[in-house]
Amino acid sequence: MEVTLWNNFMANHSGLGADAVIGKNLFECFPELPKAWLSKKILGVFLLKNFAFTSWEQRPYLFRFPHNRPITGGVDHMYQNCTFMPVKGAAGEVDSVCITLFDATDIGISQTELKKAMKSLSDSSNRDGLTGIYNRRYLEQRLSAEFDRCRRYRDQFSFVLFDLDHFKRINDTYGHLAGDEVLCVVSQHINSLLRSVDVMGRYGGEEFGIILPATPMRSALILAERIRQAIEQAPVAYKEIAIPVTVSIGIAEFEQDAPNYEHLIGCADRALYHGKENGRNQVTCYTPELESKAASS
Ligand code: GH3
Ligand code: MG
Ligand code: MG
Repeated sequence: MEVTLWNNFMANHSGLGADAVIGKNLFECFPELPKAWLSKKILGVFLLKNFAFTSWEQRPYLFRFPHNRPITGGVDHMYQNCTFMPVKGAAGEVDSVCITLFDATDIGISQTELKKAMKSLSDSSNRDGLTGIYNRRYLEQRLSAEFDRCRRYRDQFSFVLFDLDHFKRINDTYGHLAGDEVLCVVSQHINSLLRSVDVMGRYGGEEFGIILPATPMRSALILAERIRQAIEQAPVAYKEIAIPVTVSIGIAEFEQDAPNYEHLIGCADRALYHGKENGRNQVTCYTPELESKAASS
């Protein structure tokens, strides 16, 4: 592991000139090097007489060098691609290994930026533009996955659908912008009452869905009632006005024999509709009896 050659690139970036390192043990000069890993890599080249290569993606850098880029995108050191080349002596035996470092910082920064941009793009494609909560497409995707998971593991969950009462009246009375503000405030308020595993999304105009994993109907009912009361008790402030808002809520519980997740949405919707018919501002749990009531009315 003795250094026999040290070029200007290494001298400039490490701050140690050739005089300071040639003839010395590499790991004594650079104690921060990954000794076990690098020794094995170098010995492998000696033994196999073959090239080896490492990319910044596996190991961002070998030597911890600063870089001089003004924009770093969270990249703290010079990223390096490294080659390990066997160098043969006069007798044809490998007597040294030439390690070459390629500065890959620019690639590293652009790839890191690209990954961040992709992530934020995919996050925003899952979000509703007005309220910032998840959109219908994402909500249904998660609902479908939860449905499959619970069927597979015989687990349980509930799906909640709620709809703002007489929302058209709010728009007509206070204007469309006030209506938009109500949608934002109410959805954020409700979101703040949920656990981190619950998933809430905007299902339609003034209609929202919530997936409650590992939650049976009776627990969903307690939460829904808490939501209903919270919204009733917190009129939305818009300019100088306090706009009273109420919601109607329908709950459906996952059943092992349900044909698909759409069926569950249908059940929650039936319960919600029943609550609307019954005077609004209330929570209704889906039961098969609701079907016969609907049929007879
Ligand atoms: P119900 O209690 O039966 O739910 O009555 P409702 O008036 O809330 O229901 P309806 O379906 O008649 O009206 C919903 C209204 O929501 C009509 C539509 O213009 C409005 N709306 C839908 N999306 C938005 C939105 O993004 N912003 C605003 N301000 N209004 C919206
Ligand atoms: Mg409504
Ligand atoms: Mg509606």
